Amino acid sequence: MRIDGVMTFSFFVEWAPWIVMGLILFGIGYRMGQHAPMEDMEEMARRRDAAFTYRGLNFLLNDEPDKAIEAFSQAVRVNSETVEVYLSLANLFLKQGELGRAIRMHQNLLERPNLSRETRIAALYGLGEDYRKSGFVDRAVHAYHQTLEVDPGHLKALRALMTLHENEKRWDKALEMLERIRKVTGDEDPRRAAHLRVQIGREQLRHDVAPPSVEDATRNFERAIEVHPGCVEARRIMAEVALKGGDPGHAVDLLKELRHTRPGHMFLLVDILRRSYDALEDRCGFESCMDEAAHAQSASPQLMVQWGKWLEAEGRLEEVSALLEMGLRRRPDSAVLAQWYVAFLGRHGRSDEGLLVATRCLDGIVGRQPNFRCTHCGFESHEIYWRCPQCHEWDEMEPL
Ligand SMILES: [Zn+2]
Repeated sequence: MRIDGVMTFSFFVEWAPWIVMGLILFGIGYRMGQHAPMEDMEEMARRRDAAFTYRGLNFLLNDEPDKAIEAFSQAVRVNSETVEVYLSLANLFLKQGELGRAIRMHQNLLERPNLSRETRIAALYGLGEDYRKSGFVDRAVHAYHQTLEVDPGHLKALRALMTLHENEKRWDKALEMLERIRKVTGDEDPRRAAHLRVQIGREQLRHDVAPPSVEDATRNFERAIEVHPGCVEARRIMAEVALKGGDPGHAVDLLKELRHTRPGHMFLLVDILRRSYDALEDRCGFESCMDEAAHAQSASPQLMVQWGKWLEAEGRLEEVSALLEMGLRRRPDSAVLAQWYVAFLGRHGRSDEGLLVATRCLDGIVGRQPNFRCTHCGFESHEIYWRCPQCHEWDEMEPL
């Protein structure tokens, strides 16, 4: 018998309904024969769940988060009791930036009864992160506080709250979080503590919100200086308060201290220092203080320039030259020093010297500048490397 393509097809069309019906009956018979008890059904679900979970973990380890999410969702659909998987998935959504899904999953998780303490903490903190990344600050703050209600020493929640309060300029609340972090870790963060106190004190000195409270503010500034003696801003404001309160001597004491602790920042205080010495009618005091600060090893170019301007106005031109020559020996590439010194020399008919200073300074600047930069990782160097020493990419160094 000859069987060609057309015959086979018509044979199939003719018998198809019977074949399908046979298959269905076979399937029903097979399932009826199974008579699976409840325990077996549950066992099967658990196994499938475990299979999806492992598959999800595998994808995670292979850095394929999209496939991992897919596998985890299937596991969750199979057995909604697998809380750990659910939590992992929610955190994965958070990491992927799918915040709407992450929020729904964390909330859903928190609605379940009999949640273990650890899971509850993780879900609450996760929800805080979801809200923070979504820009819902108040809800994030609420979720972090709920985390802390269950786990008062939760460092990540404490740090997140501190940062949020700082962003919102709620300085007292940020300081409260910093104190709690210190109690948990034992680590001091004196600069942050000092500046938070300065901000609180600044608010207490404002006239527009409430009547200013100089006493409270002073207490905060004093505390700031106590924890961080080199806090320039606390000393500056305290000096202003002292000067206004008729105690320029105290202002000078507060400021002079910084010659040793923060000499690089002294130039920010020249104005208040001068007004304080003026109030004391102590011109020599100001001059010796500035002279000492400007000659200190770590004096900043800005301070030298300010002192140079003062000396120039006083007609002490030789001292200006000596100061600036010394400064440029220490900081040959300081454009600030060179720029002012060149202009100074020009003002006093010494342009030839100015040209030499400018050339010397430009030589220094050019000598320090890199000639090539890796477009891949940003590595900079004088010579060209065909294979970048930092990121190991080939032929990425471009001339600058
Ligand atoms: Zn590179």
